[in-house]
Order: sequence, then structure tokens, then C-alpha cells
Amino acid sequence: MFGYREMKILMLGLDNAGKTTILYKLKLNKIKTSAPTVGFNVETVSFRNVKFNMWDVGGQDRLRPLWRHYFPATTALIFVVDSHDIKRLNEAKEELYSIISDKEMEDVVLLVLANKQDLKDAMSPHEISEYLDFKQHLKNQLWCVIGSNALTGQGLVEGLSWITNNTK
Ligand code: GDP
Repeated sequence: MFGYREMKILMLGLDNAGKTTILYKLKLNKIKTSAPTVGFNVETVSFRNVKFNMWDVGGQDRLRPLWRHYFPATTALIFVVDSHDIKRLNEAKEELYSIISDKEMEDVVLLVLANKQDLKDAMSPHEISEYLDFKQHLKNQLWCVIGSNALTGQGLVEGLSWITNNTK
């Protein structure tokens, strides 16, 4: 179809951040086709004229070394943060920097979803963005931090729009 494009989006983040909930919220009414033993879900989500192939790779410690196998040909990275789990924010930051310092990932556009905004005492997208210190560290990469609530879907369309508007 004319004007139709397809891109590979990798969705990563610590376990419990909300990745699977986001994926299935975007993919309303579809039957879950995950491969739990392997630890990843792949779903195709169509949005406007873009077909997103979304990879949600498990976030448990033991699965994280597998992440880099999914890096090649990624257009955009969605990194999901649990904005309410302040204790693990530093761990999330370290994982994120380790991902984006990989050669395969140097050209990806980076969307951070500051998820679980509905929870009391959640850090705001602005606070998360300050904490991650992108202004200081990401000189050549396009990035954006958007607040989300995966239970209602709030912020998800905004996030996907940002990706489509910032990729070719
Ligand atoms: P994953 O390990 O990153 O795939 O995380 P899940 O999608 O399994 O979500 C972990 C838990 O957080 C589940 O109990 C979800 O229902 C819950 N959760 C996910 N997103 C939100 C959110 O935006 N707000 C709230 N309150 N809970 C959420």
C-alpha cells in the first residue's frame, strides 16, 4: 500500500514495569500469543500508516543478557519505567544506558514511558527525565519521556505518535 511503512520497535524495561500490559493494551481484543519459556512476546500493532512490530523481551535479571540479540534493525526503543518504584530507578537507568551504548542501538529513537502515573507518589515524566540525565548524556540521539498509564492506555497513542513523527 502506498505510504505504508513498517518498523521494528523494541520494548524493554525491568520486570514489572508494565511492558506486557502496554503491548496488550495496544493490541486490544487479541489473543495473547506469548512464548513465556523464551521470555518474549512479539506483536504487530498498526497505528496510522505504520505497522509496528513490537518486541517485548522479559525484564528479569536472567533474561537481560538476551536483550542484545534483539537489537539489530531496531528503529525505535520504548523503554518502560515504573515511575512508582523509586527504589529500582537506578537499576532501570543502568540497564537503559547499557542498551543505548550498544553500537547497534546508536541510531534508534528513544521513547521512555514513565508508566504507572496513576499511582500516588509516582515520579512525574519531568522528574524521570531529570533523573535519567539525557540532556547531559544523549547528544546525538532523539529522545522523549512521556507519562503513561497502561491500565487505561493513557499516553500510549501519544508515545506512538511521537515515534512516527520522529522516524522516516
Ligand atoms: P512487565 O513485567 O514489564 O511485562 O509488567 P506487566 O505488564 O506484567 O505489569 C506488571 C504489573 O503492573 C501488573 O500487575 C500490571 O497490572 C501493573 N501495571 C502495569 N501498568 C500499570 C499502570 O500504568 N498503572 C498501574 N497502577 N499498574 C500497572
